[in-house]
Amino acid sequence: EAKSAGRNRTALFDASMLRRVQRKAELEVGLRLALETDQFHLEYQPIVSLETRRLRGFEALVRWQHPQEGLIPPGEFIPVAEDTGLMVVLGEWVFRRACQQLAVWWQTLGREAIPSLSVNLSRTQLAVPELAERLNSIAREEGVDPSAIHLEITETTITLDPDQAARIIKSLKAFGFKIDLDDFGTGYAAMANLHMFHVDVLKVDRSFVANLHRGREFTAMVNAIITLADNLNMTLIAEGVETDEQVAILQSLDCQFAQGYLFARPLPADHVVAFINKHKAQVAGC
Ligand code: C2E
Ligand code: MG
Ligand code: MG
Ligand code: MG
Repeated sequence: EAKSAGRNRTALFDASMLRRVQRKAELEVGLRLALETDQFHLEYQPIVSLETRRLRGFEALVRWQHPQEGLIPPGEFIPVAEDTGLMVVLGEWVFRRACQQLAVWWQTLGREAIPSLSVNLSRTQLAVPELAERLNSIAREEGVDPSAIHLEITETTITLDPDQAARIIKSLKAFGFKIDLDDFGTGYAAMANLHMFHVDVLKVDRSFVANLHRGREFTAMVNAIITLADNLNMTLIAEGVETDEQVAILQSLDCQFAQGYLFARPLPADHVVAFINKHKAQVAGC
C-alpha cells in the first residue's frame, strides 16, 4: 500500500519534471527561431525625479511576442536564454535596439528630452570577452554617447563573482557607461563589497517599496539604503512605485528617483513621444 503510493508519487514527480524539461526545450527552439525572425521588441518605462517630477530617462525591457502563445514574460524566457547561451546574442540585440531608438528620439526631440536610457545586462553577458569594447562600438555605430547609457546589473549577478564584476564594471565605466545596481537589497553579500564596485545608482528592489506602508521597520530599511547610497555618492531609484502613499514616504526619506506603474507601465516605443509631451505639460502645470 505505502509502497505503491510512494511509487505513484515518484511517477507524478517524474511527469512534472519531464514537462519542465520539455517546456525548456520548446522555449529554446522557439528562442532560436525568434532571434532569426525578429519576434522581440522593447518597451520603455519612465524613471522620474521625485523632487522635480522631471523625466530622468527610461528603462528598456525586452518583450517576446510568440506567434502562437502571445506575449511570454521575460521572467520565463530569460533564464532559458541564459542556460542555453542564447542570452549573449539576445542581450546584444537588446542593447543595439535600445541605442538605435535613443538616437531616433534624440534626433526628433532633442537630447535633453531623454537624458538617459537604462539597459539590463544578464550575468552571462559579463563573460563576453571585451564586453566594454563591444558595447562601446555598438553605441558609437548607432550614434549614442555611452555616458547616456545606464547598464543595469543585478546585485545577485555581482555577488556570483565579485572580482570579475568589479573588473568589468571598471572597464565599462572607462568608456563612460553608467552602472546601476538592479534589485538592490535582494542579494546578501553586495552590501559588504559595495565600495569596490563604483556603481553610479542603486535601484531599491520593488519588494522594499511594496512594504513601505507597513511601518517603521520597513521605512528604516529603505532609509538605511538611502543613507548608504548618499555616503557612497550614488543616486537612488525606487522600483515598483504604485501608490501616492509610497511616493510620500519615499519623498520624506529624500529618495531621488522612482519608477513604477504609478507613473507609467512599460510603454511601446510609439507611445513614448506622447508620454513625454503629456508628462512635460503636467510638470509645467504643477
Ligand atoms: P527589472 O530589471 O528589475 O525590471 C523591472 C520589472 O518590474 C519589469 O518587469 C517591470 O515591468 C516591472 N515593474 C515596473 N514597475 C512596476 C510596478 O509598479 N509594479 C510591479 N508589480 N512591477 C513593476 P518585466 O519587464 O517583466 O521584467 C522582469 C525582469 O526581467 C527585469 O527586472 C529584468 O531582470 C529582466 N529583463 C527584462 N528585460 C531584460 C533585458 O532586456 N535583458 C535582461 N538581461 N534582463 C531583462
Ligand atoms: Mg532592470
Ligand atoms: Mg530592477
Ligand atoms: Mg526588479
